[in-house]
Amino acid sequence: MALRGVIFDLDGTLIDSRLDFDAMRREMGFPEGQLILEGVAALPDGERRERCLTILHEHERRGAESATLMPGAQDMLAGLSARGFPLAILTRNSRAMTQLALQRLQLEFSHVLTREDAPPKPDPAGLWHICQAWQLSVDEVIFVGDYRFDLVAGRAAGIATVLYAPDGPPDYAKEADFVVGDLRDVIRIAALLAEPNRASAASAWFPPAESGESLPRHPRTGFDR
Ligand SMILES: [Mg+2]
Repeated sequence: MALRGVIFDLDGTLIDSRLDFDAMRREMGFPEGQLILEGVAALPDGERRERCLTILHEHERRGAESATLMPGAQDMLAGLSARGFPLAILTRNSRAMTQLALQRLQLEFSHVLTREDAPPKPDPAGLWHICQAWQLSVDEVIFVGDYRFDLVAGRAAGIATVLYAPDGPPDYAKEADFVVGDLRDVIRIAALLAEPNRASAASAWFPPAESGESLPRHPRTGFDR
């Protein structure tokens, strides 16, 4: 089947919220490397959990208020929209902060699923939900994200993945169907996969348009870590 829709992760893929997860963990009293959403969810009801939620929401609010678009995101979204692809977001962020960031940056999507709307990635349920809403099968969409959870969710859903790796491919890049260093290359991939015979669309590394050295570096953001 040919490609007909594109789903995106939000933080680190379309926007940079500059969320400081190490600071969040310190303020919450979590050890290094603890996944924040999962850590808070595992806390028993009570004062500590409430305090952690307040810390989380405050960081998220500041992130949404200062979020900027990732390089090439605007061009990519415009290019995909011009080709008629419906676009959706699946994020581990909260609904309120996702809406705030999207409003500020004037981004519109046909569907936006947050952690209040679907089990958080790497659970694939949110991806299936969007396919169902679009009335498309899993082989008619791709999922674009910047972290391992995105690749795991895509694979579990049966959906091809595009890893956005502006700093070069990480060790888990082999788990992606495609890897791009420049978001605008997603337009090329989508156009390729939209051809009726996608057998010719082999997995590929799409190198950045410019040399890697000249690309701005971005810290990974989002509730991936
Ligand atoms: Mg991300």
